[in-house]
Amino acid sequence: MSMLYKSTRDDSVSVTASQAILKGLSEDGGLFVPIQIPKLDKSLEDLSKLSYQGVAYEVMKLFLDDFTEEELKNCINKAYDEKFDTDVIAPLTEADGAYFLELFHGNTIAFKDMALSILPHLMVTAAKKNNVKNKIVILTATSGDTGKAALAGFAGVEGTKIIVFYPKDGVSPIQKQQMVTQTGDNTTVFAIHGNFDDAQTGVKKIFSDKELAKEMDAAGYQFSSANSINIGRLVPQIVYYVYSYAQLLANDRIKTGDPINVVVPTGNFGNILAAFYAKQMGLPVNKLICASNSNKVLFDFFQDGAYDRNREFILTTSPSMDILISSNLERLIYFISGNDAAATKKFMDSLSTTGRYEITDEMKANLKDFYGNFASEEEDAAEIKKVYEDTGYVIDTHTAVAACVYNKYKEATKDETPAVIASTASPYKFTRSVLTAIAPDKVASDDDFELVDILSSISGVEVPKAVSEIRTAEIRHKGECDVDQMKNSVRGVLGI
Ligand SMILES: *Cc1c(COP(=O)(O)O)cnc(C)c1O
Repeated sequence: MSMLYKSTRDDSVSVTASQAILKGLSEDGGLFVPIQIPKLDKSLEDLSKLSYQGVAYEVMKLFLDDFTEEELKNCINKAYDEKFDTDVIAPLTEADGAYFLELFHGNTIAFKDMALSILPHLMVTAAKKNNVKNKIVILTATSGDTGKAALAGFAGVEGTKIIVFYPKDGVSPIQKQQMVTQTGDNTTVFAIHGNFDDAQTGVKKIFSDKELAKEMDAAGYQFSSANSINIGRLVPQIVYYVYSYAQLLANDRIKTGDPINVVVPTGNFGNILAAFYAKQMGLPVNKLICASNSNKVLFDFFQDGAYDRNREFILTTSPSMDILISSNLERLIYFISGNDAAATKKFMDSLSTTGRYEITDEMKANLKDFYGNFASEEEDAAEIKKVYEDTGYVIDTHTAVAACVYNKYKEATKDETPAVIASTASPYKFTRSVLTAIAPDKVASDDDFELVDILSSISGVEVPKAVSEIRTAEIRHKGECDVDQMKNSVRGVLGI
């Protein structure tokens, strides 16, 4: 065993992979990073002969090296099974001069399933390895997507319970229906009388409540976090970039060693960071193209080296990218500073006190692998329409941000390197916006499920099971609570 994890904000911290997964965040507020990014130890040719699960093992074993082969393979096989509606788990579709890497074939038809399908199994295994006897309780505040993906991932996983809080009037009808119909004896969902910030603040408070932690420990429970800074979510995301390259190789689209570009619709910077880690592992990636929506804080950062969250928060039709603090960027800052925890801590302190920091010229020079740009709301809708009309392929609002930015990149650079675009959601997850872009005259109904049928008849794409199932599913979660009753609700669920 050689892989240890340090904190981005404190050099003296050193934990194993399984401890990093259990803790989520370092106590100093920093994120766990591997002491060094491991190199792939199988050739790309060998990898091109493997299944998704096979590639997953070859990538993840290098990062999670305190898991035995049996443990890790067990986690992988439980995660990437019939829950996905295709054997290849993450298929590539060629359209409009690029390869769309479809990351939406899991439980909730969005890319968060790729990591949240395996995180629960990694966590339970990590708990066993570290002699944790308590049941793991996952507490999540959600604005829609993450909550359902976490519920679906943890449902039925022995040794865990999951409690999700969502703002009663702050999620889409389909998102709400997805959550309240969630099966599994270990799942609970509450609608809170407040907004997403209230839910998140409430959850953070409960997490740091020492008194409650003691009561829970006595009753055999402890909290853990499933949020996107957990290394147990980042590492599984590296897999599909390696797999996509291996598939292009297997299908003779590229030759061994040929570079590819990767385009990622970005919010919290987790998905694109995974692509960057894949490059550090030796995957021949040329440019990492970071696509933002109108909340273009990252575009500005790549332009001038200043990260500044002091700006208006814009609600867009790609809501999973409506973010002003991209938490995972901290890991890149740490990397380009030459693993300087003291410097990273200074930048992050500045971000929390002034909402802003500016990196040095030297650090900026280390960003040359990245290209940033953004798509406006009009450009996003136009891209969905154009790709549909030119090719018949229907993409969602998030993927369209990436496709649009990729076109801007090609125009600016004339770089024709084959590109993989991370397709982060099924068009059926954002039916109203997608249909409005393609056929605005057909968007008459208030009922999103009706629009689903219309989109299906126009596009000829079958409605995914994840959507058709919930239309008639039993409503299992009717709980509601006031913001100041969240802690009591948790107590109630745990019987303490
Ligand atoms: C979460 C999400 C994103 C953003 O991914 P990050 O890892 O946060 O950058 C993009 N698209 C969809 C559909 C998402 O759910």
